[in-house]
Amino acid sequence: MPTYTPRGRVLIRGANILDSTGAVPYPGDVLIEDGRITAVGSVPQEAAAGDDIEIVDADGKTVMSGLCDAHTHFSWNNSADLDGLGTMPVEEHLLFCLESAHTYLDYGYTMCVGAASAKPRLDVVCRNAIEEHRFPGPRYLANGPEIAVTGGALIPSITKFADGAEGMRLAVRELVGLGVDQIKLSMSGEEITGTLHADDTYFTEEEVQAAADEAHRRGIRVCAHARSAESVKMCVRHGVEIIYHASYTDAEGMDMLEAAKDRVYVAPGINWLVGTLYDAESFGYPQAAAEAAGYRHELETAIEGLKEMHRRGIRILPGGDYGFAWTPHGTYARDLQHFVELLDFTPMEAILAATAQGGEIMLRPDELGKVRPGYLADLIIVDGNPLEDITILQDITRITHVMKDGRFHRAPGQHHYRGLHIG
Ligand SMILES: [Zn+2]
Repeated sequence: MPTYTPRGRVLIRGANILDSTGAVPYPGDVLIEDGRITAVGSVPQEAAAGDDIEIVDADGKTVMSGLCDAHTHFSWNNSADLDGLGTMPVEEHLLFCLESAHTYLDYGYTMCVGAASAKPRLDVVCRNAIEEHRFPGPRYLANGPEIAVTGGALIPSITKFADGAEGMRLAVRELVGLGVDQIKLSMSGEEITGTLHADDTYFTEEEVQAAADEAHRRGIRVCAHARSAESVKMCVRHGVEIIYHASYTDAEGMDMLEAAKDRVYVAPGINWLVGTLYDAESFGYPQAAAEAAGYRHELETAIEGLKEMHRRGIRILPGGDYGFAWTPHGTYARDLQHFVELLDFTPMEAILAATAQGGEIMLRPDELGKVRPGYLADLIIVDGNPLEDITILQDITRITHVMKDGRFHRAPGQHHYRGLHIG
């Protein structure tokens, strides 16, 4: 097993600090000691003294929190067809997941919320391996296979089937027993399946209630694939904490979300809609087919709904269901561009959603997502100003340093065993 070097002291000097409090970036230094940020702005000279300190000059660069992806699938294996998630043997699949985790961290993502795992233990095993420092990856909240009712599975080969209230309780209990951090209910359809429609709802009220109750009794959260208006309302009624997609939220659902905005997150996975509509042609799903299936309509409806949610102060987090051939791993920060260009977020709002609110959805708002004293040292250094050009966060050559837990995962000149040549 690799040995893990102790964490030293690091001084990042002369940076433009984007601290994710909402403050305009300001010039200054950041001191990191034993995995935590201990001073930000002006660092007292005596605090930064000593031979044991590593100095990083960051003139003209931005230092900011690592990013959060609120809808992560380590096990989505860049397949061009949905069943490819089910047919990959578990041994290769585990290796793929570890590579996904590595890729997230390479690209500056230090926080990820698992949104379903293609096989029961892939997420849990990866989370544990990362926490034990055996493999690099973001801080991760693990999920199990998504739960669906008979006839309501988007990808049957990766689904945990359950029916009725008692069936839901049993399924949740089994997944809790695997050690997941949250469970996923796949409540509505998805047009690319050809048969299950985005505005359909497959779960009954009793099934959602039972699944959510059972998860909450065991102290874990619930997330849901909920595209239809009815599924969004069921989520709010039964305390589902993380609502994925929410494309067809209606007026009543909008009011319900607003009333619940302190306890609910919406993570639209907006790049999935954009990519499936515009980028899937060379992988066998032409734009004309996507339009005929309704993806343009869904994208336009989702954009209007998400803008309204944003106006009402409902938390909307980036995270885009990455890991299909047309939405490959490594392109995660496309979400931030979509937030700015499609949803009318300011670049600062998009970054706060990916950092400070990332700390919130990770359930560690006082430790993750900000560059403030006392926070864990999960940082990136960016060559340039993402507030002026949000797309630079998609360019790995512009993310010169990635630090997690006070250690550099990536820095210029570091050997990188995956052969990723940066800069
Ligand atoms: Zn997903």
